[in-house]
Amino acid sequence: MPLKAIIDGETIIGPDLSKVEWAELKARHKNGLPVRMCCCGAPGHLRTTKGTQHFYHAADTGCPHDNESKEHLEIKYLIYRICQAGQWETSVEFPSADRTWICDVFAQKDGRKIVFEIQLSPIPSSDLLSRDMKYQDEGIESYWLLDNYLDRAKEFESWYDSHIYPDDDRHKERIPYIDRSFFFTGTENHLFIAKNIRTVGLRAKKQTLFSTNNPEIPLAVWVREVLKGNYRNYLLESAAIFQRKHALRSQASPALLRLRDFYQKIIRDETYQEKVRKYYRKIAGTDRLRNDSVVQQKFREISFETDWFKREYETIMSESYGLFSWKKLTGHSTSYPVFRLESEAKIKKLDECVRKFSQWEHSFDEALNNLDREIAARGK
Ligand SMILES: [Zn+2]
Ligand SMILES: [Zn+2]
Repeated sequence: MPLKAIIDGETIIGPDLSKVEWAELKARHKNGLPVRMCCCGAPGHLRTTKGTQHFYHAADTGCPHDNESKEHLEIKYLIYRICQAGQWETSVEFPSADRTWICDVFAQKDGRKIVFEIQLSPIPSSDLLSRDMKYQDEGIESYWLLDNYLDRAKEFESWYDSHIYPDDDRHKERIPYIDRSFFFTGTENHLFIAKNIRTVGLRAKKQTLFSTNNPEIPLAVWVREVLKGNYRNYLLESAAIFQRKHALRSQASPALLRLRDFYQKIIRDETYQEKVRKYYRKIAGTDRLRNDSVVQQKFREISFETDWFKREYETIMSESYGLFSWKKLTGHSTSYPVFRLESEAKIKKLDECVRKFSQWEHSFDEALNNLDREIAARGK
């Protein structure tokens, strides 16, 4: 149900008229003054629905603007009034020059062009994307008020997930030590980061809005923030934060994968300790080697090295070292280490740790080879 119609060659916005003016217009219409709908040019009539003065199509012409609800109408008019009060050049049901779109509210000032779209009924995602693309193409800042995010918050989150984890599929391993909750955010950020669409959650019945950090925002407050550019900046800043987090994650990934290898060798499988134990059994079981001080000395050095390596690993993983924090799974008593994706400096420190481990692993293998040679020399 549109707010706007053309009467006597003039564009009339119903709620802009006083009750008296509206009654006069209604009387003139009854006496033959034609009302033409702006949306489609079809003939229309005047009506007041719960206090809101609006127009409606005289006959069902299939015009998509015919089935707007009363809430839609009221919210549209409220936004229009707030923009006007802020000295914005404002219009409702505003069509593009080529009439490929009609938006709910259009406002412009100082070179900024803003569109507000109120969406209460479900629409296909492809429609949302293609309609917004038209605004983007024309350099218009668009804002979608989506009623409870059209009950599609989960789908929008999956867009964000595939944007932020582009190479994450079930065939590929997830990067270890990454806390996925570090990347959690709300729907308006999901849609802006993944698709560059500005949205806000709407509770149409209450005429309030919501976002990640605000469970209830009065409509007027939010519209003013949009007009001031603050909501746009909020979305841009959020996107920058998550892009940075994502970049840090990519940067840290190789070292984290290497570190997990070391975890498996040092802690889980005790690969090095197992090698050392094998030598111990060999030396202890052979009189000639057991009593050889050079072999004994070399063996002690190696087993000391292995202990050092394990302690070093534990140091690096400890909270106090600064690279990892330990999180508890809800409902579990065990905790797990999470890399602190905070800065390039932390990643550099992690890289150095992993490089040190690699060097150690190399010299450990050399020391074992060395011991092998000593043992072989004594076998002759
Ligand atoms: Zn129409
Ligand atoms: Zn009529």
